[in-house]
Parts: sequence; structure tokens; C-alpha cells
Amino acid sequence: MAYQKNSKIAKSCSSRYPTINLTATVLVALALALCGPLCLAQEMAQGHGPAPRLAEDPHTDSHIAEAIRQDSADHIRQTIEQLVGFNSRSTISAQDDESIKAGKGIGAAREWIKAEFERYSKDCGGCLEVKTDTFTEQPGDRIPKPTEITNVYAVLRGTDPQQANRIVLVTGHYDSRNSDPLNGTEPAPGANDDGSGTAVSLECARVLSKAVLNKVKFPATIVFLTVAGEEQGLNGSKHFAQMAKQQGWKLEAVLNNDIVGGDRSPQQDASVVRVFSEGLPAAATESEIRRIRMLGGESDSTSRELARYIADVGRSYDAGVKPLLVFRLDRFLRGGDHYSFNQQGFAAVRLTEFREDFNHQHQNVRKDDANGIEYGDLPKFVNFDYVAHVARLNAATLASLASAPAPPASVKILTKNLENDTTLTWEPSTGASAYEVVWRSTNAADWEYVQVVSSGTRATLKVSKDNVIFGVRALDQAGHRSLPAVPEPER
Ligand SMILES: [Zn+2]
Repeated sequence: MAYQKNSKIAKSCSSRYPTINLTATVLVALALALCGPLCLAQEMAQGHGPAPRLAEDPHTDSHIAEAIRQDSADHIRQTIEQLVGFNSRSTISAQDDESIKAGKGIGAAREWIKAEFERYSKDCGGCLEVKTDTFTEQPGDRIPKPTEITNVYAVLRGTDPQQANRIVLVTGHYDSRNSDPLNGTEPAPGANDDGSGTAVSLECARVLSKAVLNKVKFPATIVFLTVAGEEQGLNGSKHFAQMAKQQGWKLEAVLNNDIVGGDRSPQQDASVVRVFSEGLPAAATESEIRRIRMLGGESDSTSRELARYIADVGRSYDAGVKPLLVFRLDRFLRGGDHYSFNQQGFAAVRLTEFREDFNHQHQNVRKDDANGIEYGDLPKFVNFDYVAHVARLNAATLASLASAPAPPASVKILTKNLENDTTLTWEPSTGASAYEVVWRSTNAADWEYVQVVSSGTRATLKVSKDNVIFGVRALDQAGHRSLPAVPEPER
């Protein structure tokens, strides 16, 4: 069995109450016998009854751990240097045949990315479907004339016919810019912004397709996407997200990697990567917003649950970098491709290095002799080991989600009677062998407590719904966990 429980669990004074079917008396007796009066007192003082803290409960799949170790900083460096070599990947740069042949402009970049996905697919016996999504963007602020935009992506189809329609996705934008967003000819190396994110998407495709070759199975589908048009107005991601919505994709998670190069400035913290997630969903209707306000659900969008999931992955796998959750759509007054997906109602987050150096993005390559500052988004400012660590975190998240059952559907909190207990119900998930109810204080950032429900799709807990926020997640036999679904009230 691939699933390993952390050995520390057995020593903690929690996790000894694996099911909810025990009576309070038995629980007290068990707690006293196994844990002692002090431990019991601590747990009871929390007012939650005995339950383990999630933070102490990492869960590692050895196959996934092995797969993500194949991420290579050297391969990522080659990818980024190759992308920089196209001179400019501005969306309005050249994409005619001659320029493609000469290896210059966004057309050449697009063809190279496509060929790279196809190479990985050949190496895994054709396991990836390589596709393009091409459309013509009409003139706008940053698009002077009708311009063809192409998103390039590879699909690793899920192995379970019942779950292959579930999709998780990683993306980066392969277009770049210099100081002038309307300049498509001067160098726009875009090594960090966003050669790094493009390299993460490609590297995830490379290592996870390799894992498949080594007989690792992902029941759900993984999509590795690279988009263009980001710097002109999120055009590529907008088109792609709309397509996903129109085609009814069951897109459960989008990881947008933008500026994950770990710029080598002395103030950088290469031990963390920021994960931005929206609070109030961009796609929420007026009545949904009203309900969120009524129930205190401002920090429980599906995007935020995805961010918490990444935090959990960060505890379970040694990626080399830890997720730092930022409860905000994006950096202050700035945007990115995840927002295009949020607008269509999908869970989507943005990963970005801890500290950006604004001399090294959206700048013409130059040196200011007066102060010695070097401007430009060049490979020499990128920390390739850091990008590889971010790629590992992404790959572990994608693999965990694609291995797990679907999140439980129709999760309800029964509110027919006024009572201090809480009863939750949900529909069974395909591939699930058990469920977990998770909860946290309303003022806690991440899930704190968990109760396993080993059979059935209903649980009653001695915890007041007024004081905490609940979620329910599904587990397969090997212990892969789904995203949690937050309940709606049912009268
Ligand atoms: Zn960017």
C-alpha cells in the first residue's frame, strides 16, 4: 500500500478515536486509559471533544514522492534558456513561417513548447494528447491589430473511466514583455515572468508522464497548460477558461504559476512560495454572496480550499519549498491568469515567489551606469533550484488530487432542529472508501480537527455548527484525500 501514516501520530494524544460511532462514555474511558487525565483535560478544554489536529497528520504516497524527485533544476534551466532564446515572446511579436524557422518570436516559442510536450509523450508511449487552442483576438488597448493567440496544452487522461472527466490543471504564461507592452521586436527575455511558470508546467508534464510509464495510475485527468496573451490582458487564459466552462469541464483545481523564478536578490526567501487565493468568489451571484455573508463563509471559496490543500501537500511532501498562503486574490492591485478561471467559477490559485524584484520584470534589458543597476528579466537572476522546488510542489498537488476520489457532493448541515450537535450528510464519491469531517475555529486559517467516518455518508458530531466551519473530504483505500467540500444548510 502506497499510503504511509506518519509514525508521530501514534505518539500524539489524539488520533486514537478513528470513528464517530463510539459513545462518549467509551471515549472518556479510552482517553483515560491511553492518554491519561491531563491529555483528556487538554482536549476537553478545547471544547471540541477528542479529535486529532490535522497539522500533525501528514500523509505521503511513496509513488508520488518518488515521481516528484525526478524534477530537475538542470532541465528547468534548459527550458528557460530556450524560451529566452526566442528574443521576444510578446503576444504581438512575429509568428510568420519565416520567423518560426529563424527561431524568433512567439510563434517559434509556441512550436517549441508543442514539440517539447510531444517529446515527453513519445517517451511515455504516447500517454499525452498534445493540443492547441487558437483564436483571433480583436484590437484592444494592448492589441493593435487582430492577433492570433494560441494556448498549448497536453492532456494526461485519467485511468478510471468513471473519473477521467475530473480534471486538475497547471498553467504558466509563455508570452513575455519588455518596458513597452506594445513593443514586439526588442528583447523581452521573460526568464522569470513567466519562463519560470512555463517551465513548471512542462516539468510537471515530464515527471508525471514518466510516473505513468512506471505504472503509477491517476484516476482523474491532468492538464498541463501554457497560455499566451497574459501581458496583453489575460487573453489566452480567458479564452481557455471560457472554453472549459462552455464544454462543461469538471475542472476541480487550477494552479497558476507566474513569477516562480525565486529572483536571486539578497532579500529573497527561497524557502517559501506564496499561494494567492480569492475570498469572495468572482463568479458568486448576489444570492450566493448573501448566503456567504449570513454563514460567515468569506474564507471558504473553493479556491481557498485548494490553497489549504496545497498547504497540506507541503506538509506531506518534501518539495524543498513551503507554501505561504496569502488570503487575497493576487498581489496588491495586480492580476494573473487564475482570475480568468475564477471568473468562470473554477477553483484557481496563483503561485509566486516570496519577493519580486521589479527591476527584473517588465523592463528593457539595460544597465544604468549611474547606479550600476541591471534591468531586465534575464536567466542569470533566476534560481533554477527554486523553480524545481516549486515544480515539485505543483506535481505533488496535481498527483495527489488526480489520485484522490472526487470531493463529496451535496454536503449538507441539517438545521431542521435547533441543537448544539451538528449532523452532516453527503452523497457518496466515486472511488471513496471513507470520509473525513474536518473543522476549524471560525478565526483559524487552516483546518484544525478531523474525524474519520469509516462507513456511510452521515456524521453527527458533538461540536456546535455556530462555533466552527466544517468541511467533508473523501479518501480512497490508499489514503489519498480529495479537496474538502463545505456544507450548505438544509432545513
Ligand atoms: Zn506574469
